[in-house]
Amino acid sequence: MAGENEYWNKELETMSFESLREHQLKRLKEQLQYAYENSPYYKKSFDAVKIRTDDIRSFEDYQDMVPFISKSRIIEIQALNPPFGDLLAVDKKELNQLFYAPGPIIFAFTPEEWSSIVESAARALFTMGTRKDDIADCTVNYNWVIAGKLLDDAMKRVGCAVLPGGVGMTKTHIELMKLTNCSILFGFPTFCQQLVETAREMGLKPDRDLSVKLVHVFGEVRTDAGKRGLGEAFGAKVRELYGTAELGIVAVECPEGGGMHLDPNVFVEILDPQTGKPVTWGEGGEICGCDSSRKAIPIIRYRTGDITEGLNLSPCPCGRTTPRLKKILGRVGDIPRIKGMFISSRQIDNVLESFPELGKYQIVVDRPKIRDELTIKVEYKGVIPFEKTAKKLIEDLKVAIRVTPKIKLVEKGTIPDDAPLVDDRRKV
Ligand SMILES: [Zn+2]
Repeated sequence: MAGENEYWNKELETMSFESLREHQLKRLKEQLQYAYENSPYYKKSFDAVKIRTDDIRSFEDYQDMVPFISKSRIIEIQALNPPFGDLLAVDKKELNQLFYAPGPIIFAFTPEEWSSIVESAARALFTMGTRKDDIADCTVNYNWVIAGKLLDDAMKRVGCAVLPGGVGMTKTHIELMKLTNCSILFGFPTFCQQLVETAREMGLKPDRDLSVKLVHVFGEVRTDAGKRGLGEAFGAKVRELYGTAELGIVAVECPEGGGMHLDPNVFVEILDPQTGKPVTWGEGGEICGCDSSRKAIPIIRYRTGDITEGLNLSPCPCGRTTPRLKKILGRVGDIPRIKGMFISSRQIDNVLESFPELGKYQIVVDRPKIRDELTIKVEYKGVIPFEKTAKKLIEDLKVAIRVTPKIKLVEKGTIPDDAPLVDDRRKV
């Protein structure tokens, strides 16, 4: 097997940070020009705010001037003029690939553009450890959406053999994984976990009877313990990927961990979700991006609605020079910000894992006077030492979320099933 510390495209992956920014700015400018000249939507949108693409000479100009786009905006644009809206920047006869994303949004690609997106995805998979001699089971959805087709094509570009398993039929997955000595499992963490359980029900021990060495996961908010448990069950390394249909694969985890390397061809900004202004470089906020490879439907300054802890800016021992995206905390709206810190359910889940006597919880945020107040309402099961539990919980949460919460322990069944996870009373 080829070593882990090799590159798919050494020049692109290891260029100095200054060269990387130059590379990104050049591509970004070309993309703005292309979108303005070819997509009626961007022409109107840039003209409306009086942007001349020639005036955009730096990232700061881009961030000052270029309007955002969001999922709901894309849906509106396409609904006005179905199926593509006036976003379409090529003649319809050039398209050869359509996808549907729930929303609904129709994505369209030309063959050349698809090929360059597959190339980026192949580079991403190689970074995670996928190699030519691997056999991979791709358990993500293949129907209508981008994910299955993109990952399948990218694995083939790397040169490995792909089982297009898709979702469901867990027993068949296990039988085929065993039969083919499948070495890479690709899927959502919950589905990978289901496969572990199915294998055990079939009398197999996944780490002993299967040959999985890498589990590539994406798409969900996960706990650290869940990730560790999955790796132990398969006796495999678990590496994460972050991407969206609008931006492709945005970031992937290399063998060194410490976050997910941003893709050099996707220009990523981290924004304050309230103001839309860029945060200080490295800090947490909402992920916004532009994949400079998109030609049929350019997507510029797309606000994902996903909140990250921020960027790991320290040099990575693997030699790749793009910053590493830290954890995805959840969605804007589900992640209240208190005293400048984003509070995510994922961080709280991590803490509550070591309190088996506690169950469901709710995050309550209030501002009784001028200061924000965070209360975590948690249900307990059976008889518990109240004060001791609350004290320990406050200490552990303080370390995890960097804000001292109040704890309200309530009897099991107190928090209604339809109660929102976050009850932010500051809005009223
Ligand atoms: Zn690395």
